[in-house]
Amino acid sequence: MTTELPEISLPVGERLLLLSCCAPCSGDVIQTLAANKIDTTVLFYNPNIHFEEEYQIRLEENKKFTLECGFDFVDLNYDPDNWFEAVKGFENEPEKGERCFRCFAMRLRKTAEYAQANGFKIFADTLGISRWKDLKQVHSAGEMVAKDFPDLMYWPYNWRKKGGSMRMDKVSQEQNFYRQNYCGCIYSRRD
Ligand code: SF4
Repeated sequence: MTTELPEISLPVGERLLLLSCCAPCSGDVIQTLAANKIDTTVLFYNPNIHFEEEYQIRLEENKKFTLECGFDFVDLNYDPDNWFEAVKGFENEPEKGERCFRCFAMRLRKTAEYAQANGFKIFADTLGISRWKDLKQVHSAGEMVAKDFPDLMYWPYNWRKKGGSMRMDKVSQEQNFYRQNYCGCIYSRRD
């Protein structure tokens, strides 16, 4: 194992389902999981991303890196209509407001549904690793969703700690990842 990567282990189960938002946010997370030999499937469910061309760029880059690291990659439907419905009425919220909570919850719910249908016991995400995100908000969305899935555990791991934030930038530079300048949705692009 690369010495600078932390040692981690799954609190339950033997396979992790990881919701990923993009390659820059998940690069270090995926490397850390691979170094710790944690059997991981990376799930891409991000109908929040606007435009579709942008979605495809983020998808392809995330997929390529995931496969290079030896993990499976699942690409769920791009269904922006459902996303717009989930955040309806909260379009003018600032980032870290209610719109973001609903956005996280919607994507995590789909992740939990996939996890349950495919025999996973635990799911996590990369949504809170960026300093632009409210980590507590992400985790509370995950905990809320998990209450509806008694056989599943949401793992609120803080990927920023133990040097994660620094390594996130380092991996992005080393891999020359495309780095977007807005979170994803049309409103974050507007603001
Ligand atoms: S700013 Fe990001 S987290 Fe918030 S609603 Fe838009 S895409 Fe979702």
